[in-house]
Amino acid sequence: MTVPAAEPEGPQARSPHPAPDASEETYDLVVIGAGPAGLTAAVTAAELGLTVALVDSAARPGGQYDRHPAPTLSAGRPPAPHHDRAPFADLRRRLAASRTTTCLTEHHVWSVIRESDGTWTAHAVTGADGTDGRPARTRGRALLLATGAHERHLPFPGWTLPGVVAAGGAQAMLSAGLVLPGRRVVVAGSGPLLLAVAASLAAAGARIPAVVEAAGYLRYARTPRTLAANPRKAAEALTYGAALLRHRVPLHPRSAVTRVHGTERVEAVTVTRLDRDWRPLPGTGRRIACDALAVGHGLVPQIELATAVGCATRTLADGTRGLALGAHQETSVPGLWAAGEAGGVGGAELARTEGEMAARAIAARLLGRRADPERTALLRRRRDRLRAFADAMAAAHAPGPGWTGWLTDDTDVCRCEEVTAGRVREAVTGLGARDPRTVKLLTRAGMGWCQGRMCGTAVACLTSRGAPAPPPPDRRLLAVPVPLSALAAGEPRGTGLPAVREGLESPAAPLPPADPRPAGPPGRPEAPPARHPHRRSTP
Ligand SMILES: Cc1cc2nc3c(=O)[nH]c(=O)nc-3n(C[C@H](O)[C@H](O)[C@H](O)COP(=O)(O)OP(=O)(O)OC[C@H]3O[C@@H](n4cnc5c(N)ncnc54)[C@H](O)[C@@H]3O)c2cc1C
Repeated sequence: MTVPAAEPEGPQARSPHPAPDASEETYDLVVIGAGPAGLTAAVTAAELGLTVALVDSAARPGGQYDRHPAPTLSAGRPPAPHHDRAPFADLRRRLAASRTTTCLTEHHVWSVIRESDGTWTAHAVTGADGTDGRPARTRGRALLLATGAHERHLPFPGWTLPGVVAAGGAQAMLSAGLVLPGRRVVVAGSGPLLLAVAASLAAAGARIPAVVEAAGYLRYARTPRTLAANPRKAAEALTYGAALLRHRVPLHPRSAVTRVHGTERVEAVTVTRLDRDWRPLPGTGRRIACDALAVGHGLVPQIELATAVGCATRTLADGTRGLALGAHQETSVPGLWAAGEAGGVGGAELARTEGEMAARAIAARLLGRRADPERTALLRRRRDRLRAFADAMAAAHAPGPGWTGWLTDDTDVCRCEEVTAGRVREAVTGLGARDPRTVKLLTRAGMGWCQGRMCGTAVACLTSRGAPAPPPPDRRLLAVPVPLSALAAGEPRGTGLPAVREGLESPAAPLPPADPRPAGPPGRPEAPPARHPHRRSTP
């Protein structure tokens, strides 16, 4: 939907060239993702003189960090606000003031295509969940991907019981739905998100019997200069730490939830101490009563739209893949930029910084003007400093190879297709599978609705049997599930599935207006994926 101008607190949608169907316009810039990165990029680009379409699948801009209660709940603000809301208030004010930004919410982008004239088309389905809406096209001279990240899940016995929720999901339930996942909630997994989630749940009235962190915090001490250069990050951690102390929440580092107990739903969890490779230490298991478990093992950049058009990726410090980006946030594909967690997980401030950098580079290119050198230099220093911290954080919380020791043979690894760890192991040891793709063909792991987003990491780790796990294949034809009717509806104008195939297989198209100022070389790219996408079975 296009957000109505009269929506209280929300952005105002004003088309730069009023027309009944926004998809017919060619904007200067199409931004996909309205989290801190995309929102910052959109308002900056508009203030620099570009027409912008800001596209997001959610009902309101804000992304992961700035979630709001659903309008039907009549709540003014989230119950447990983050400490850093001022920048978001500023972004919302600038968005509302913009006369050249069109905000297209509830648009689920399933593919982006570079046209033969060098412009970009984003194909989306509309509606709250994207399955009942109409298809929509949005065209732009440049495209910025700010699609954020999704949570990484490592399975363990009992993880499919009702009452086990994702850590970010628990926060979203609270912020957007004003509900708690339970009354006694254990928060577990790895990464700084756990502290934020536990603090929010405790502030909203939940009892938190334990926060269980698989990594050890001492690993941060290996990068003292990076820590010293980022005092705000330490302050953030202290704020959450103080909140946990106030609510008497015990923190268990180097430990993991290795089993969930219960028949109908969660009744308790077993927390086990880990060695430095995340192997469970025998005899250290302790049962903790609870009625919910919020669990997450870090975040994985959401890069499907980019890799589908051949963007190069790089392996991040925690073994996940992010986009390989140049000095001005450009991807390896001309005319396509990225900002925020798509290039590596690093927090809201880094996302905003990269969003502004990308917008300035795009405006310079499209308008044929030189970007403000002082502002660019300042942003670049800030980005590099925050990226260094993000890398240290990713290294500190990278899953150790021993985590697969938590799995029993009957633990579901792929919950969509109900494939157990035993079946994956059998495919590797008994049938000779050497890579996750072969395991998938032999077992159906990763062929369900989520298309491997949930089980991809686990299958890769089980396949590699303790060796560093190769990241799962990250090239897919459709970034989100799309009804066939939406594909068929695009057919007459040359969109739809055949055009998707065309877009993937056609040789590189020319760029729109040339940039007088060379943008820096792409940073440390790995070989781009093969031009032909991995064939994936549809759900
Ligand atoms: C519970 C929680 C607590 C956090 N606490 C902190 C904190 O204390 N400090 C901190 O610095 N950071 C924190 N973070 C991290 C912070 O939220 C992220 O770093 C930040 O939101 C990243 O911004 P982004 O713009 O890159 O991505 P996001 O905010 O994730 O935004 C991405 C947007 O893209 C949209 N999108 C994705 N794919 C598509 C598609 N195909 N079609 C259409 N739209 C799409 C999504 O709907 C989303 O709105 C927290 C995150 C969570 C979940």
